[in-house]
Amino acid sequence: MIAVHLDLNTLLVCLFFGNLFTVLLVIAYRSRQSKDRTTGLFVAAKLLQLVIVLLLMQEDFLGLRFTLPLNVLLSLAAGTVEAFSLLKLLGAYSGRIRTYYFSLAGLSALSLLLIYILYPDKPLHIASATLSGVLFIVYPAYILGIKGKKTPLQEMMGLLYGIVILTLLGRAALTFYTPAARNSFAPEILQTLYYIGVYLLMFLGTSGFMLLSREQSYAELERVATFDELTGILNRRSFVQRARSKIADLAKGNIPFSFLLLDIDHFKNVNDTYGHDTGDKVLGDFSRKIQGQLGDSDLFGRFGGEEFAVLLYCSDEETSGRTAEQLRRCVLDAVIDGIPMPYTVSIGIITVHSGERVPLNTLYRLSDAALYQAKQQGRNRVVRSRETPGSS
Ligand code: GH3
Ligand code: MG
Ligand code: MG
Repeated sequence: MIAVHLDLNTLLVCLFFGNLFTVLLVIAYRSRQSKDRTTGLFVAAKLLQLVIVLLLMQEDFLGLRFTLPLNVLLSLAAGTVEAFSLLKLLGAYSGRIRTYYFSLAGLSALSLLLIYILYPDKPLHIASATLSGVLFIVYPAYILGIKGKKTPLQEMMGLLYGIVILTLLGRAALTFYTPAARNSFAPEILQTLYYIGVYLLMFLGTSGFMLLSREQSYAELERVATFDELTGILNRRSFVQRARSKIADLAKGNIPFSFLLLDIDHFKNVNDTYGHDTGDKVLGDFSRKIQGQLGDSDLFGRFGGEEFAVLLYCSDEETSGRTAEQLRRCVLDAVIDGIPMPYTVSIGIITVHSGERVPLNTLYRLSDAALYQAKQQGRNRVVRSRETPGSS
């Protein structure tokens, strides 16, 4: 067995300063950031834990009768608040979860009180407090480790929470050992497990929360940088980036593909007649309808204003011509806010045959020329570029 001799006071001093430094860092960080509720709850939980550790350090001076019930209440409050902050960060917080935690805190307080009154000298209250702790972290652990799609960070946090849960369960189980067994080796294991559990929880609670919130801010920034805010489809920059890499793959695989430029006809009239907001709704309607016609391997992006681009994967002249016609037709007969709002689209198209290598800039230039012809010829039509762009 691992022989660890940690004395409680050293642990408490470490926990106190660990939490204090965390709180100071988070408060300094928050002073420059938007003051979101999630980090606010996290700081509140850490402050409550500071008070708990402080009370534990003063136990001899203040007396167990005073510190124990207060610490139980504070621990339940800190556990609830920290769980809320983590679940909010994970987008898993709801009214039901709030009810679960409030009930859990209430029942835990009640059972601890009863056990303390009925069996004051028994180790039952250690087991009960530990099991309450487990019930506090089991849901975040489930969300992190098991439910839905996970990032590696979330998987690792889920795993570590799982280890903490097992450690705590081990500790609770050991309290029921026979006195003989407990006298021989159980107290050592019990203490070791307890220390390991407390440390892991502290590390997980703080490092995990910080890394998760960083991961989420980054994901949000990436989403904003990748997608067009109004339509939710790829913006020009990310469309170009993805199209370049896709075109390189298609050329390598000798796979034909087509590039389409779409521009809504007389869109200025929509804005002038129905207002800018309705114009925005038309852009949303257009994007949804076009997206609905495309496959998972195709790319669709907003190039700016009412101009859009499509890259049709594995699509020769015949299939791309058919698809372009489908795209042109699918937007006809639109209804916006219950009002018929007929609008049309013109499309310029170019196909790159298998084995040809054409840069995206050339595709854009040639399809734009075809689109210009479509406008010249009366709009609401598909015009194919007849240039031969490719070099073998
Ligand atoms: P054409 O058939 O030749 O394409 O004519 P058009 O009116 O569609 O083209 P034009 O380029 O003259 O006008 C495009 C209009 O699109 C002008 C601009 O106000 C509008 N527009 C650009 N972006 C947005 C947007 O995000 N929302 C709205 N509502 N309108 C936009
Ligand atoms: Mg237009
Ligand atoms: Mg335009």
